[in-house]
Amino acid sequence: MPLAVEEQLTMRELLKDPIYKQWLKKMPSIGAAICPSGKPWRVWVQKRQGGNWARGDFETYRQAYDFMRWHLGLGVHDVALTCKIKEFRPPVVTDKSLPKRVIKVKGGPDRFVWRKRYHIPAQIGQNPLHEWCTYCRRPTIFTYFTRHHSHPQRVNGNERRCAICGIRLVAVRHYR
Ligand SMILES: [Zn+2]
Repeated sequence: MPLAVEEQLTMRELLKDPIYKQWLKKMPSIGAAICPSGKPWRVWVQKRQGGNWARGDFETYRQAYDFMRWHLGLGVHDVALTCKIKEFRPPVVTDKSLPKRVIKVKGGPDRFVWRKRYHIPAQIGQNPLHEWCTYCRRPTIFTYFTRHHSHPQRVNGNERRCAICGIRLVAVRHYR
């Protein structure tokens, strides 16, 4: 396995970020999206660094979240709580360190509002191949694979894929 994947931030590291931790705990909505299996939530578990990824699918987010927390408690190396059918953007936060945005009001005084930005948990010096995976709902390393645990067949080795769910980088929205 390429070294890059071994340098992926782990969920345990990501959860040290209080904003991300809070966001992950909150039940997300998948709206009207339909999952043919009826189990839209997938938990990926990697027991040991560089080892295989096991998976379990769940009907509800709460079931998947509890399963993920349970595995973290057991001391596994890494986990992800992936949505199989819908993309998610990162948490959005109000950033008071940025200058306020001006809203022109016709016939009245301008309004000033705080700016919002995406909040993606990160570490100084992390591997630059990390991207926000909209399906894994966390930053993961996107790199090149010819075989990937999420695909039964060989995959095109010229495309960057999420090291956990296997989605191609070109197929997901990009967030900074
Ligand atoms: Zn992914």
